[in-house]
Amino acid sequence: MRKNYLLTPGPTPLPPQVSEAMARPIIHHRTPQFQVILKEATEGLKYIFQTKNDVFIFASSGTGAMEAAVVNLCSSQDTVITVEGGKFGERWTEICQSYGVNTEVIKVEWGKAVKPEEVEIRLKANSKIKAVFTTLCETSTGVVNDIKAIGRIVKDSGAVLVVDAISGLAAIDLKTDEWNCDLVVSGSQKGFMLPPGLGFISVSQKAWGIIKEARCPRYYFDLIKAKKALDKIDTPFTPAISLIVALNESIRLIKEEGLENVFRRHRLMAEATRRAIKAMGLSLYPSEDALSDVVTAVKVPEGVDGEKLVKTMRDVYGVTIAGGQSELKGKIFRIAHMGYIDEFDIILCISCLEKVLTQMGYKFVLGAGIKAAEEIFLKG
Ligand SMILES: *Cc1c(COP(=O)(O)O)cnc(C)c1O
Repeated sequence: MRKNYLLTPGPTPLPPQVSEAMARPIIHHRTPQFQVILKEATEGLKYIFQTKNDVFIFASSGTGAMEAAVVNLCSSQDTVITVEGGKFGERWTEICQSYGVNTEVIKVEWGKAVKPEEVEIRLKANSKIKAVFTTLCETSTGVVNDIKAIGRIVKDSGAVLVVDAISGLAAIDLKTDEWNCDLVVSGSQKGFMLPPGLGFISVSQKAWGIIKEARCPRYYFDLIKAKKALDKIDTPFTPAISLIVALNESIRLIKEEGLENVFRRHRLMAEATRRAIKAMGLSLYPSEDALSDVVTAVKVPEGVDGEKLVKTMRDVYGVTIAGGQSELKGKIFRIAHMGYIDEFDIILCISCLEKVLTQMGYKFVLGAGIKAAEEIFLKG
């Protein structure tokens, strides 16, 4: 017998209520019945995005919503700023360049957060900057960026602030309106506790002005078309009906717990994971001032094969964590503690990590990680 446990930064485990919702008989989307569901979903998303503006739902992964942001804001030959501190920051640059949009890249050392002053300097140097593309939680490195500070800077410029909150939303705080975020992008398979397949995007009033002028080619991801439909509680194309039904279950769970408590739980899971890692003599990959509460990135210790560690945990014991991506392949492993994760999931994961590290010859006091995590959980 083998059980499987998922502690990856997307997809994340599903609450039974969500799985049950997806198994319900399919209904037609051009019906009053579905309109009730769609209205509930978009209102619920506003609560989670902390916005009064419209939030649109696409049948796509998170990257589809990222592409929607680019093609609706930009025209080819426009210039934008992209912040690159990891693989997902780089994705903004790649999408922009695919559409002939010029990118001024702010290269941030991996493992560090962007300094908001850097954004300010670049914005002031070029008054033609259309948009600033950022990442709330850079999932590839485990770093969280100071979106609030960046929002304060971008607000008074002609540019709009775009935030990839795919792994951050419904896990850590992002006050879309209060922090002046114009377009916030997310996806279903991270903090939202859903399977992959939904992309979300919120749009500010300032952004609509720019969207009306933007000339990048677009069809499926046309936000103006999506807005016309949503104003009539409709979607331009067939929505991912079952996923939206399930979204309402996840929203219900998040509302029941309360957004603040959801954030608190993620902080606690992160804190326990970090303490456990340190108690095992391991080091965190990001700098201490940039640690996200969404995913913990850990340096693979000297003498241990990082890829083998992740494979053994998954293939022998059924505990799936993530390895490093691109240049971090084999150098870090990542434990995600986002979404439907509680303290015993963390204990279980640390326990498996301790076992496999011991088998691989890494020396530490067996049980030190679990003890450190339990001490944090006892304090609550
Ligand atoms: C997961 C993730 C993405 C990619 O989302 P997909 O759903 O795989 O397209 C983009 N950005 C961040 C920060 C992510 O964590």
